[in-house]
Amino acid sequence: MTTARPAHLPSAAFFQRPRPTAEQPLVVMMSACLGGVGCGVDGSTNGDHTGLRSWLVRPEVRIVKFCPEHFSFGTPRLTPDNHGGNGFDVLDGKARSLAEDGTDWTAGMVKAAYEMRDRALREKVDLAILMDISGACGSTVTYLGSRFAADKVYQQGPGVAAAALIRAGIPVISQRDDRSLRMLRDLIDGTQLLEEERDHWEKEWYQGYFGK
Ligand code: SF4
Repeated sequence: MTTARPAHLPSAAFFQRPRPTAEQPLVVMMSACLGGVGCGVDGSTNGDHTGLRSWLVRPEVRIVKFCPEHFSFGTPRLTPDNHGGNGFDVLDGKARSLAEDGTDWTAGMVKAAYEMRDRALREKVDLAILMDISGACGSTVTYLGSRFAADKVYQQGPGVAAAALIRAGIPVISQRDDRSLRMLRDLIDGTQLLEEERDHWEKEWYQGYFGK
């Protein structure tokens, strides 16, 4: 198992672009819950993400919010996870997305993933900031099988919607990727404040879990 830098993160070259302006904003697709929409399975925003939005929501950034699970299943809803593989495998018909009661949600997850991808392409999205661990929006780590299992297992690789975005060539950052988020903030602010921040794949938990 490799614990190298995942290819879906924005490259160093991505951050070399000119600083965005109100006239030429950076276009960012966000998991709608990260954007403050109560579209989590329980109608919540899956935590408090006001810190992220405090520097991201500004005229130099145009945000496109989308919740793939809400698109297909509404809110509130059961929680889906991917069984037998990650989001790439689900798109390829090699794995399934099952709700927590075992109902097969594969078709709805795939439909929502391609809807999210198509919206991103229409809106000319530069990158996406998505909620890791979600069976739809996860980018670096998701559950392999149900998260409610007593012996829950994590897997590398994206959820279904993130996989569709990645295959369309859109870089993805998660809420856990502190290095990439700092580099993005520096690009937007015109500062160079990156210090010891690390992306999720560089942190002890990831290296310990997947490096065995
Ligand atoms: S599917 Fe994505 S946008 Fe919707 S609640 Fe889950 S993580 Fe948030």
